[in-house]
Formats: sequence, structure tokens, C-alpha cells
Amino acid sequence: MSLRRVSVFGATGSIGQSTLDLIGRAPDHYNVVALTAGRNVAQLAEDARRFKAEVAVISDESLLPELRLALQGCSTEAAAGVLALNEAASRPVDWVMSAIVGAAGLEPGLKALEQGATLALANKESLVTAGKLLLKTAAENGARVLPVDSEHSAVFQALVGEDISAVERVIITASGGAFRDWPVERLKQATVAQASSHPNWDMGQRITIDSASMFNKALEVIETHEYFGFLPDQIEVLIHPQSLVHALVGFQDGGLMAHLGAPDMRHAIGYALHYPKREKLPVARLNLAEIGQLDFAAPDIERYPALALANTVMERGGLSGAVFNVAKDAALDAFIAGQIGFTQMSEVVEEVLDLLLPDNGLIDAPMNLDNLRHATQLGQSTTAQVMRATKAI
Ligand code: NDP
Repeated sequence: MSLRRVSVFGATGSIGQSTLDLIGRAPDHYNVVALTAGRNVAQLAEDARRFKAEVAVISDESLLPELRLALQGCSTEAAAGVLALNEAASRPVDWVMSAIVGAAGLEPGLKALEQGATLALANKESLVTAGKLLLKTAAENGARVLPVDSEHSAVFQALVGEDISAVERVIITASGGAFRDWPVERLKQATVAQASSHPNWDMGQRITIDSASMFNKALEVIETHEYFGFLPDQIEVLIHPQSLVHALVGFQDGGLMAHLGAPDMRHAIGYALHYPKREKLPVARLNLAEIGQLDFAAPDIERYPALALANTVMERGGLSGAVFNVAKDAALDAFIAGQIGFTQMSEVVEEVLDLLLPDNGLIDAPMNLDNLRHATQLGQSTTAQVMRATKAI
């Protein structure tokens, strides 16, 4: 049996570690080529040694001496910086996990697709900011992008063997985050600590706060539009506090296919790792008799204004996703730093979209890396300007 050559980008993060957990359960099946991290030298070096990786890349170049020291005596090559990241992504592999957080995940993903690898995509920002570029690069190189976000993996699985033109609607579920039961008037006072606790999923702080504000769901709605090509009015969001039904696909005969599973990212990661096969995965099995009840409710747009902003982005298209993503990230940074309040995040993003999306060459510009950088810079400077004018809490 030939070994599958795999790389994990963002190996030290939550998704990266879950991916290595699965790979580590069948080490004889894989040849680990590249592992990468942002700054966490200790974890990167430990995993590089354990998996005998060909190369370990740390993004922060100042940490290269530390990485070299940590890898002394083992065969793994140490490298650092964006160029090294792109070089590692260009090494021929069969499968790559794209789990770098933020815009930094896009270029390595494109490089991996250019050499024909299957890209398991957790990095939402790639699809939201540059979905068309990503899918075009995959098509041109005979490569494949497989979704790893749990909702999109669920939709993908519900569509296996189906005719996509028979799909009427797609429903992605949302737990409702930390504040789903709070009175809307109280949200203005929500603190960073309160927003950082998720009722069901154990995730990083940023994505947890994005769940409370539903900016995370807004990103996922845009991802659904970009990846599957469904129209904005075909995509619905449904509050489902238990987080056991991840998505449903509704067909033109009225049937709904639902995907259920424990809230454990190793399911979606494992599905993408073994696709098109299904292999045994170490995730909890649901006992529906014990669970007894599944609840659903329509989301309240007053509580979750980010959902309306996702519709604006999908309707405008072009480079709107890049502006939305950068404005959302800057507003989140400002909330975490105590500069703006919880509800001001969506107000800031809305104002940036209002200012930039009518034109500014962002809608019709061809989608390439230069134009994406331009849209990102414009989004950053406009968000900073809006935030300076925003009355802080
Ligand atoms: P984490 O923050 O846990 O991990 C991010 C990874 O990216 C780490 O390896 C980190 O390195 C690395 N990194 C951070 N900044 C940079 C940079 N500038 N350049 C290169 N590498 C960098 O994130 P998650 O694992 O939670 O999420 C990864 C992606 O998957 C995100 O896009 C997220 O939205 C998405 N996602 C996450 C889910 C989850 O359940 N966690 C669910 C679905 C999607 P270091 O450790 O050194 O900082």
C-alpha cells in the first residue's frame, strides 16, 4: 500500500490538532510532508518529531532560530516566513488540511491546489473572500476542495448522489451562541468574557465570540453561496440549540435530508480525510432516545444583524466578501480590546459596507490576489476611519 502524502497548515490550532489526532491513529497510512504554525514553536516541533514531517514552517520569521534548536537531531527541515509557507504548500501531496486562521490561509491553499492536491478547507476566510478564485484554481488544476466546516460538510454529505438542480433550499443550523436567551436590550452591555463562552462547541475565543454575534453564521452563509452556488434566497439559518443537526437540504419534492452528529469537528475532518470512503471515526455516537428532543427556532434579525449583512455581501458579490471579512475582524479586535461594545461590531461593519460597496471598483474588479489585497487595504482603512468616529462604550 502506498502511503498518502499529507500536509497540515495551521497544525497547532484546534482543527490542526484534531487532524493530527486522526492521522496519528493510523500513522502507517500517511507520510506527513509539511506542518505549519504561526508562533507556537513547541507544539510544532513536538508534532514534527512525532510525525517525522519533511518540513516544519513557522510563520513568524523571528522564531526560526528557536525552531531550529527545537528540531535539532531530527530529520525535519526548519523554515520560516510567508515564502517558506508557500514553498511548503507547493510540495506535491495528495491531501492538505487548510486550517490556518484568517486571510493568511488563502495563498498556501491556492499553492496546494495548483499542484493538484485535495484541499480540505476549514479556513472559512478563503471561501468568503476569494471563493471564485479558489474554485477556479481547483478546476484548472484537476484538484478538489472539500468543505470541513461542519455545516458545509453536512450539506456536502446530504448531496452525495443527488442532482443539485433538484435542491430547493439549504438550511444551516446555529446554536444561537452565548446570548440566544438574553433580552435584546441587554446585548449592548455584553462583556468579552460573556461572549467567549459557547454553549456546545469548544473552540477558540474569536470564533466563539463570532458565534454569539452570528458573524460566524454570516460567514457560513456566504461560504454556502460560494461553495455550492446556491442563491441567497435558497439559504436559510435555523436556530438549533443542541447543535446535533448540522444542516438540512430541501429538495423540490419536499423531502429534507438532515445530517446529524455529535458536535465534534473530527467527524467533518475525518470525512474529508477519507472521502469518498467512510472510515471508523472516534466520535461519540448519538443516542436519540436519550436526547429525546430537538428544538428549532427562526433567528431574530434584531438580535443577529450580521445575518442581514451576509445577504448584502452575497447580493453585491465581487470583492465584497474581502471587505466584509476585514471589517468584521477589525471590529472583533476592537471589541476584544474593550474599544467598542458587542452590538457596535455589526454597526461598524454595516457602515463600512454602506460606504464601500456601492462602487469603489470592488464589485466588477477581476478576482486576483492583487485586487484582493487592494480590497483588504481599503476595508482596513475604512473600518479604522469608521471606528474613530464611533462613540466607544
Ligand atoms: P486556531 O486559532 O486554533 O488555530 C489557527 C492555526 O493557524 C494555528 O496553527 C496558528 O498557529 C496558525 N496561524 C495563526 N496565525 C497565522 C498566520 N498569520 N500565519 C500562519 N499561521 C497562522 O484556529 P482553529 O483551528 O479554531 O480554526 C482554523 C480555521 O478553521 C479558521 O479559519 C476557523 O474559522 C475555521 N474553523 C474552525 C472550527 C473550529 O471548531 N475550531 C470549525 C470550523 C471552521 P499558532 O498556534 O502558532 O498561533
